[in-house]
Amino acid sequence: MQLQTEALHAGYEKDTQRTMAVPMYMSTAFDFGSTDFAASSFNLQQGTDNVYTRVGNPTTAVLEKRFAVLEGGSGALAVSSGMSAIFYSILNVAQAGDNIIVANQLYGGTVTLFSQTLKRLGIEARFFDIHSPDAIEALVDEHTKCLFFESITNPSIDVPNFEVLIAIANKHNIITIVDNTVATPMLCQPLLLGVDVVVHSASKYTTGQGLAIGGLIVERKDLAEKIKGNARYPDFNTPEVSYHGLVFADSVVSGILFTFRARMVLMRDTGAVLSPFNAWLFIQGVETLSLRMKQHSQSALSIAQWLEKHPRVKKVNYPLLESDKSYANAQKYLAKGASGLLSFEVEDFETAKKVLDSVQIFSIVANIGDSKSIINHSASTTHQQLSPEELKKAGVSAGLIRLSVGLEDSDDLIADLKSALDA
Ligand SMILES: *Cc1c(COP(=O)(O)O)cnc(C)c1O
Repeated sequence: MQLQTEALHAGYEKDTQRTMAVPMYMSTAFDFGSTDFAASSFNLQQGTDNVYTRVGNPTTAVLEKRFAVLEGGSGALAVSSGMSAIFYSILNVAQAGDNIIVANQLYGGTVTLFSQTLKRLGIEARFFDIHSPDAIEALVDEHTKCLFFESITNPSIDVPNFEVLIAIANKHNIITIVDNTVATPMLCQPLLLGVDVVVHSASKYTTGQGLAIGGLIVERKDLAEKIKGNARYPDFNTPEVSYHGLVFADSVVSGILFTFRARMVLMRDTGAVLSPFNAWLFIQGVETLSLRMKQHSQSALSIAQWLEKHPRVKKVNYPLLESDKSYANAQKYLAKGASGLLSFEVEDFETAKKVLDSVQIFSIVANIGDSKSIINHSASTTHQQLSPEELKKAGVSAGLIRLSVGLEDSDDLIADLKSALDA
């Protein structure tokens, strides 16, 4: 079935009330009915359904199943934010003394998680440039636990060569983890390209209305085969003390292993739970996600093409522009569209400031993926603390403006940018 059909139906079987809308189960816990049933639930014999909302909830389960289907994976775990999705995906494979190989081009919060917080936990992040994947192999050793990158990088808007990165990781039996927030499964399905784990910030395009913070982890259908017996992943292959010696890799049901362990160990012990209310909001949003991603992509491309011709614009970054350094990869991996993020450069800091202060429809907001258009000036906000040299290294010039193109009519957005640029 097509994604737009799955987006409306996957993961939901009507309950006894036959409600068309997915019901919202706001309940902390569930009645076992008998001591035997309770005991078998705690021994993981009843799956993870309806025990306690920290490890599972029927509304959240619909969101998880739906996302697993949309990404082409076997199972998913919903968590309270994109950052906790990323954190859990790493903690599920790495511990003190281990290292992870990660792209330079990452979301700001991911950079600080990897370079500061994980460092405090004894996990070393080794960075590589996604345009130079040849440098990766020199970083791999026996303690390497994953290769992490973004499918469309935020904020630099690059597209990696998936095949090359996946081949290097597979050669060394290392798990690949991809942040698919900006592309969403409607534009790119990394698991079907051979990536092992996908993470999401659902806070962005999923509701489309900037309503709630949330995250998801989704695993590839046959990932269990890669993990079972793999010496890099002892936590999946040795007896788990907290479950009476259960070996996770030997107890795979419906191809679900990675997210099962994340749920039963990490979620149980550290509890970054998604509220069922937020899960319910995300379910509403997913229904229209593919329609919206098409429109975001079309409008962003029109605006990028228009900006390229404007005399006061020095450079435009959008992966589906022929002039873009990611064009070849984008054509290959983003045939359905390249999402709503683009950036462009004007002469200097003052000109950029003037553009931001002149636009009427765009809002100045530190977010992306809203249906309302957003404009951002990196040098005065997110990258304010960097020196001119550091800005250059980060690819952020003083005149760089980033747009998250929303769902307003693109002619109106172009007219807004025109009057701001011509002011
Ligand atoms: C926003 C974002 C995150 C963090 O997600 P939160 O839901 O805000 O925690 C991670 N990765 C990317 C690419 C993002 O844009």
